[in-house]
Amino acid sequence: MNKAIGYQCSICDKTYGLDEVTYTCPDDGGNLSVVLDYDGIKATTSPADIQASSSQSIWRYLPLLPVGEPGHEKTSLHAVGWTPTFAPTKLSEQTGIKQLWVKDESRNPTASFKDRASALLVVRAAEIDAEITVTASTGNAGAALAGMAAATGRKAVIFAPKTAPPAKIAQLLIFGAKVVLVDGTYDDAFDLSVETTKEFGWYNRNTGYNPFTAEGKKTAAFEIWEQVILQQDLDRPLCVFVSVGDGNIISGLHKGFKDLHALGWLEHMPRIFGVQSEGSAAIYNAYAAGTEEIKAVSATTLADSISVDLPRDGLRALRAATQTNGAYIQVSDEAIISAIADLGPVGVFAEPAGSTAYAGVQKALEDGQITMDDPVLALNTGSGLKDVKAAMQAAGEAPIIKPDLDAVKELLN
Ligand SMILES: *Cc1c(COP(=O)(O)O)cnc(C)c1O
Ligand SMILES: [Zn+2]
Repeated sequence: MNKAIGYQCSICDKTYGLDEVTYTCPDDGGNLSVVLDYDGIKATTSPADIQASSSQSIWRYLPLLPVGEPGHEKTSLHAVGWTPTFAPTKLSEQTGIKQLWVKDESRNPTASFKDRASALLVVRAAEIDAEITVTASTGNAGAALAGMAAATGRKAVIFAPKTAPPAKIAQLLIFGAKVVLVDGTYDDAFDLSVETTKEFGWYNRNTGYNPFTAEGKKTAAFEIWEQVILQQDLDRPLCVFVSVGDGNIISGLHKGFKDLHALGWLEHMPRIFGVQSEGSAAIYNAYAAGTEEIKAVSATTLADSISVDLPRDGLRALRAATQTNGAYIQVSDEAIISAIADLGPVGVFAEPAGSTAYAGVQKALEDGQITMDDPVLALNTGSGLKDVKAAMQAAGEAPIIKPDLDAVKELLN
């Protein structure tokens, strides 16, 4: 069965066959969304089938994904997704939000949300016989592609800004990718990776460029549906908070909820809230100005994973909030660091771009965009181990003492 019918452009609405184009709309460069055959899917699959799946990974949603059987059964490809979603009482008490969940994406095989996209990408690459995959990345997308390529025996080339945190660069190298550090910004790395794609015929995974990334990322929406919405008797729409850089995660989440809605499996659309750093707030700026025209900024934020001048999936990212009665929120880098410290005591170790979503929850509550009666879910999109420098900023220094009991007693006083 062909679950995907084709693509639709987010700017001009024109549709294309699945093998007619590979990346963006040839007419206007708009991002393409994969169009599924909802009738066909409904005829063969029910929510109960999915809930009965024995797969604890994104592959439990294979009936809703535009690829065939993934193969590579006993590899980390099958450890992607189905991340824990839990209700930390301590954060409920601190914020007053009665129903509050955190979904921890740092538990993915390469420790970020990006594995969802890269897992789907390597399966698609195999289907179209693309030998070499390439991506530009601030670190996590590259690590995810390198990791998933390693798991499936494929080659990966990664372009990253030379300023990427060392832990992320180490991850790329360890997974055996060809790593190219660019003396420039992420945006420069992006442009260069597209040039090499055209020159060498590689298969490009770039966020907000390859339509399959959002299809992988939408699986997080499916999990939120199964792990929260179907489990709870919510009397208000769930408010989902996510950090935003290029805007592909938030677009993917929106796509996932739209798929479920179109299938008739989800009654009330969640409200989607995009959170950006004040230092990298291109989409927030457009939202605040009430326009769909997104202008480039000169990004400066310590949250490197969401440091983006011109978001590559900006339009869809903006609409994810405006079409769901959500909002865009900007937070300071100080608030991002302090949110790392807030999440730690409930067992979540976030990198700055991960804690940004929770900082957004705090801000939205303060500003009255949500109330304590709204059910809220914040995603942590990446692991604190990816950026130890930021973690140390959040945690402060540990005391050093002489190795004797008196010194311990003195310290404890
Ligand atoms: C990539 C990334 C984001 C932002 O995703 P976009 O699709 O660029 O908006 C947020 N957090 C982490 C940890 C990421 O790696
Ligand atoms: Zn178009």
